[in-house]
Amino acid sequence: KPSENNTRRYNGEPDSTEGNDTSCVILEQKLKPDLEIERVLEQYSLRPRKEEKKKEEIYSEKKIFETIKTIEKTSSKTKELEFGGRIGTFTMIFFLPATVLYLLLMCKQDDPSLMNFPSLPPLESLWEARVFGVFLLWFFLQALFYLLPIGKVVEGLPLSNGRKLQYRINGFYAFVLTAAAIGTLLYFQFELYYLYDHLLQFAVSAAAFSLGLSIYLYIRSLKVPEEELAPGGNSGYFVYDFFTGHELNPRIGSFDLKYFCELRPGLIGWVVLNLAMLLAEMKIHNQSMPSLSMILVNIFQLLYVVDALWNEEAILTTMDITHDGFGFMLAFGDLVWVPFVYSLQALYLVGHPTAISWPVAAAITILNCIGYYIFRSANSQKNNFRRNPADPKLAYLKFIPTATGKGLLVTGWWGFVRHPNYLGDIIMALAWSLPCGFNHILPYFYVIYFICLLVHREARDEHHCKQKYGLAWERYCQRVPYRIFPYIY
Ligand code: NDP
Repeated sequence: KPSENNTRRYNGEPDSTEGNDTSCVILEQKLKPDLEIERVLEQYSLRPRKEEKKKEEIYSEKKIFETIKTIEKTSSKTKELEFGGRIGTFTMIFFLPATVLYLLLMCKQDDPSLMNFPSLPPLESLWEARVFGVFLLWFFLQALFYLLPIGKVVEGLPLSNGRKLQYRINGFYAFVLTAAAIGTLLYFQFELYYLYDHLLQFAVSAAAFSLGLSIYLYIRSLKVPEEELAPGGNSGYFVYDFFTGHELNPRIGSFDLKYFCELRPGLIGWVVLNLAMLLAEMKIHNQSMPSLSMILVNIFQLLYVVDALWNEEAILTTMDITHDGFGFMLAFGDLVWVPFVYSLQALYLVGHPTAISWPVAAAITILNCIGYYIFRSANSQKNNFRRNPADPKLAYLKFIPTATGKGLLVTGWWGFVRHPNYLGDIIMALAWSLPCGFNHILPYFYVIYFICLLVHREARDEHHCKQKYGLAWERYCQRVPYRIFPYIY
């Protein structure tokens, strides 16, 4: 059975990370006839889908993957280090929290110009036990919602050992329950202003928690079997594996820690923080209504979060779940970076009111809708195709077959650019910053950072796909030359 949830598998070309392994040579010799078949298949790469299916079946009958499994077991160490290797990851463990602190302090300044460096508040003011308690309450409330036996249970993509993990899809229910809980608090006059007032302390609490979680994750990863380690986080270097995540799918019983953290506490926390900013704006400026800019930022980002939760199942085919381990990078990203950095525009608007006209608001809304449309339809197209390539609704799409048995779409959104979903995401990111006007660059931090993140992520994904699909990927790149931005990049 081909193993899908792992990039360390046969791809039609020898894997560079397996260069020192003599079993590779034996594998290549055994697979020579299969490689020939692949080349022939490649020449007819744009055949109608039904024929492709047949060819794929014939091809899979060659059972090349039985041999591959042996190889995977002997060479699962990560040899190509990403993120600047050991020095890069060590630096980022300090740099990321410092950036969050800097951004939040900047946002609270009257003049948040780049050169106007904020002064560091006294250390003792950054920590309050009660705030940490509220954070814990939030985290465990979300964990409780996750455990509720509501929502369907689906299978993830096959792991390297062929096993499939089960995931409960109830993120949207968790959101509805959270909304009801927040509504009840507001009804009983609880001031969400508390979140705004203690924002730094909340960020520090979340950072401390994510650090503790990462330490726990690393320690437990030392005991798990090799095949359960993340393909990209098993270098043997402590700092690197701690940062990128050593274990692929850490679970306590059926509680999947990575899957839970990806979409629940941080993502839902982000919209709660946005709401707190909206109420803080009204309170501080004595407004009976929030500003138009604040409404737009809240609605756009709420749509993004609700969409992610509504389409929760789609996360099971993303890199975070299938490739990256769960370590400091994702723990800090999910629990600190997403809620506290992504809500920067709303925080900025509290201290820096920005008036925009209705026509400008309409233009920004159209931009956000265009971005959302591209983002959603591209993600759904790929997700549906991966889940059921034989779906008659997708019969109009063409694809290039690959040696792994999976196809690469070359029409539809994935024939437009190689990462159309990133394009849509970036357009939306711009629409979220524009309501903040052009007085400062600070609210544009998100879109600038996001372009860097997605360009880097795209390069990582290209690298993995080249390893996975070899020649087929090269053909895809020839057929679809632009990576994210048509005619630019
Ligand atoms: P993608 O969902 O883009 O998945 C990439 C994978 O898609 C590849 O590894 C490959 O996997 C498959 N693929 C690539 N090309 C094709 C093709 N032509 N046909 C079929 N399958 C193909 O990756 P991400 O996890 O990076 O992104 C998921 C979403 O999350 C995106 O919309 C992104 O914008 C968003 N995102 C948002 C972030 C945020 O902070 N807001 C951060 C990161 C991502 P395989 O072949 O193995 O299936």
